[in-house]
Amino acid sequence: HMVTLSRLRDKGVPETDEHIILTISSKLPPIIRRELADYLVEQGESITHAKLVKKISERIETMEMDVTLLEHLSPQAPNELSDSYGAIHVAYNAALKTGHKPRGAMRSPLAYSHDLYRTEFMDPITKVTLPGYYAPGKQGINLRVIPRSFPMRNEEPYKCEVCAGAHNALRCGLSSSAFRDKAKDKGLCPLCVRKHHITECRSRFRCCYCNGLHHSGGCPLKEFYRDVKNYPKDAPPRVTFFRAQAKQNEH
Ligand SMILES: [Zn+2]
Ligand SMILES: [Zn+2]
Ligand SMILES: [Zn+2]
Repeated sequence: HMVTLSRLRDKGVPETDEHIILTISSKLPPIIRRELADYLVEQGESITHAKLVKKISERIETMEMDVTLLEHLSPQAPNELSDSYGAIHVAYNAALKTGHKPRGAMRSPLAYSHDLYRTEFMDPITKVTLPGYYAPGKQGINLRVIPRSFPMRNEEPYKCEVCAGAHNALRCGLSSSAFRDKAKDKGLCPLCVRKHHITECRSRFRCCYCNGLHHSGGCPLKEFYRDVKNYPKDAPPRVTFFRAQAKQNEH
């Protein structure tokens, strides 16, 4: 996707060329497209390629979907546009015309419900009392994500929302408690680390270590799983190099 973006720039395509943005959007998996449609509506005329690509990157990382999905991204023939193009197009144009954010069917449900996370959670390791959403979820460790939860040996094309380092926040080098504190100080959501309160969050993301309703970076179990001695035997091998970069080096 970074390659796609630089190709667009090389061609001198204006950053705000909405047609290309919509073309790119239409090549994504439906679940991302739905969120992207919301995002396009939110951004209105201020959308740029850079913003869109950043958003897509974040979303893919958040979902921990394979980066290879992005290999299918290319600003090719508009006649390849699928049905979902229509939905995004309509939402986007409606937003441009009215300057409003349409609400409804395409929005994900709110992630947090006060009734479900009423009780506080005592972190058994640090003995610190944390908000209830730091309790583990029901499904336990996510073996698909855990291989990519370790800091990479190379820089990533992301900026960590929490510590501003060159990595996805999933791979942040901060301790879980430092991550929680810093996110809080910056007014970031403890689930998706964007700038809003958790009660407004619509992220489908869950912690990769414990399936709880919080970002893996702040999970009380982070230190346990960062210790390679505790790496789950049934998980795929650890990823130690950011792949987009690795591919570029090969070519
Ligand atoms: Zn970080
Ligand atoms: Zn959030
Ligand atoms: Zn957790």
